[in-house]
Amino acid sequence: MLFLSLRKVKHMKLDAAFIAARKEDLEKRKLELLKDLNIDAVQVTDDDYDAKFPDFGDKDDENAAEVAVFEKNLSMEKALEVSLFNVNRSLKKIEEGDYGVCDKCGAPINPKRLEAFPSASTCMECKKKSL
Ligand SMILES: [Zn+2]
Repeated sequence: MLFLSLRKVKHMKLDAAFIAARKEDLEKRKLELLKDLNIDAVQVTDDDYDAKFPDFGDKDDENAAEVAVFEKNLSMEKALEVSLFNVNRSLKKIEEGDYGVCDKCGAPINPKRLEAFPSASTCMECKKKSL
């Protein structure tokens, strides 16, 4: 639960309970991501591809499908890795006591944003600018 006094909301200081709840969200997300990445890792071939390259057969008409699946998995794994990176980064920020501080401008990130995206590392203003 989120308990912030009006004064605290105005200054956007995060209390310990809020941070503890976000830490719980992040750790849950991290486990999910690791699980997802492990599922991929189990299926990685002996050739140690970063993304799995499923063997659909040697016939020419099957190779296109094979490449398409490979590319799909590559981008999926990449997305998972980026998510994991952001989650780890946020957990590190919690450890260092600067969770909820924008990476780009140093302004406090709106707690509502952190509730929706616990791994958000920038404030809405910087997020908008980077789009
Ligand atoms: Zn910012």
